[in-house]
Amino acid sequence: MLAPETAWLDRGDGICRNLDLATARCRIYDRRPDVCNVRAMYEQRYRKQMAWPVFVVLNQVACDELRKLRPEVLVR
Ligand code: SF4
Repeated sequence: MLAPETAWLDRGDGICRNLDLATARCRIYDRRPDVCNVRAMYEQRYRKQMAWPVFVVLNQVACDELRKLRPEVLVR
């Protein structure tokens, strides 16, 4: 199940409607929503809770776990 913040991006099967599966890249990267922008999310929601390097590592761990769940959707 997707988080409420990202559910609107779901094309119906848990994959983002903006992901180009042929290239494994975001089709709207330069204008992606803040919820997809690690720096923006840190500044808006997490700055008071943890240091930037910790937030980056937590995001990397989450990405690694998501890749295990959906290995066919490899982001390069
Ligand atoms: S970065 Fe792009 S492809 Fe990834 S979730 Fe956000 S909008 Fe979708």
